[in-house]
Amino acid sequence: KEKTLAIIKPDGILGNYSDKIKNIITGYGFSITREMRIQLDEDAVRSFYAEHSSKSFFLSLVKYMTSGPILVMILEKDNAVADWRKLIGPTDAEKAKVTHPQSIRAMCGFNMERNCVHGSDSTQSASREISFFFDVQDTR
Ligand code: ATP
Repeated sequence: KEKTLAIIKPDGILGNYSDKIKNIITGYGFSITREMRIQLDEDAVRSFYAEHSSKSFFLSLVKYMTSGPILVMILEKDNAVADWRKLIGPTDAEKAKVTHPQSIRAMCGFNMERNCVHGSDSTQSASREISFFFDVQDTR
């Protein structure tokens, strides 16, 4: 089965969406094989989002992602990467409310930055992100 990394971001946790999101996840046939609630520090966010380090929104993204605890999960099912991306909807949660009203970001996100959830964008990103948070030996 394919694996992907899902994160409920600080705004999702603060808004109490964790249980609702987890019900959606399991309702769509994903297994949550690992989960961990953590608070990221600046260094961790800088490293996780290194590909965005030169972007204008990077400092704001670091501030957002360190603003509170997050819930990191490994989701497993056939086609997990693409199916989870589809379920969360577009990056811009404000637009998602109009164009993808059934998506998770439409439900709990706020705008381009505060979009309440993360999903790996490829199987390569998924393995990098999974080993970023979890000990790879036990996630095979
Ligand atoms: P994620 O990687 O979190 O699943 P994504 O792949 O939809 O989201 P990316 O382009 O990888 O989006 O951006 C990573 C995160 O950075 C976004 O989820 C969002 O929180 C923030 N972000 C992206 N673009 C902007 C922007 N233009 N302004 C503010 N924040 C942004």
